[in-house]
Amino acid sequence: MNEIGLDDLPIRDDLRGRSPYGAPQLDVPVALNTNENPYPPSPRLAEALGRAVAAVAGGLNRYPDRDAVRLRAGLADYLGHGLDARRVWAANGSNEVLQQILQTFGGPGRTAMGFEPSYSMHPIISHVTGTTWLPVPRTRDFGIDVEAARIAIAVHQPHVVFLTSPNNPTGTALPLETVEAIAATAPGVVVVDEAYAEFRREGTPSALSLLPTHPRLIVTRTMSKAFAMAGTRVGYLAAHPAVVDALQLVRLPYHLSAVTQAVAGTALEFADELLGAVKQLRADRDALVDWLRANGFRVADSDANFVLFGEFADRTAVWQGMLDHGVLIREVGPPGWLRVTVGTPEELARFRTALLAVTGRG
Ligand SMILES: *Cc1c(COP(=O)(O)O)cnc(C)c1O
Repeated sequence: MNEIGLDDLPIRDDLRGRSPYGAPQLDVPVALNTNENPYPPSPRLAEALGRAVAAVAGGLNRYPDRDAVRLRAGLADYLGHGLDARRVWAANGSNEVLQQILQTFGGPGRTAMGFEPSYSMHPIISHVTGTTWLPVPRTRDFGIDVEAARIAIAVHQPHVVFLTSPNNPTGTALPLETVEAIAATAPGVVVVDEAYAEFRREGTPSALSLLPTHPRLIVTRTMSKAFAMAGTRVGYLAAHPAVVDALQLVRLPYHLSAVTQAVAGTALEFADELLGAVKQLRADRDALVDWLRANGFRVADSDANFVLFGEFADRTAVWQGMLDHGVLIREVGPPGWLRVTVGTPEELARFRTALLAVTGRG
């Protein structure tokens, strides 16, 4: 058999030389690298999930509800803000939601703008859908300069603008005025990626409150982080009903399996329990920020379940040193910085011990 590689295949020219999304999935004692929720479903929830799957199992010869109406109604209920199923859409992770948005509003000959450093999947999904990616730098404190944003939007007239708030990998939340100012000048759709919304500090706003006055605004959320359901793959959005209608043009039929719909709907019924753990994670996040600062590290303010810290002359060496201690963190963001996900108290204790050892501060 001849060895053939990617280069020998007739793949699209614009995919040549590109790398897939690839956060390392290593088997380590302490994995604090992909912003997962460290608390697994409680035995009570796990049992309810099992019952929900059993209840649909006997009907799996049929296609699922194509429009996932019940789940969307549940998600709308959870979000509040007067939303209903017509204003909410769900898919397999918010990544699929983002892909559907770009398939609908982006595509060949069109552009998407984002403010970096930010979530690496925004440019990747843009590219894969043939949408030209237009990066604009954030300010030194990882915020967005409204004037610079206005100018970039005026010059490029992007079809899609991404605002990530709280931002990944910096943890920075945007003031509502920034989102409003950008939504007011953007000619296309504005997507506020709120994957980490539930982790916001007290008083930090959500863009959901802007939906009634901004019909081209889309707010995306996920069950992967706060709801501790990364393995279920459910993301969703809230937007004007016309936006939800538009997405139907590109979604694959029956994209959300009956199992997924049942599991996600059941997890929603346990929202109170799950959000209790989020409260704990927020407190542990704030304590982690304080500890890092007390030990002389620079730390970006965080409204998420992770913390960006630095600065290191050789961050790769620090990342590797941590891994050698069994603690996997993420080498991401601006040069010199590293990102750590907020884990359990035990995991964070191991992180702190390892970090002091690796940086010679212990
Ligand atoms: C983790 C994350 C997502 C979630 O992706 P899912 O596909 O829902 O798991 C979306 N946006 C950002 C900014 C994230 O960090």
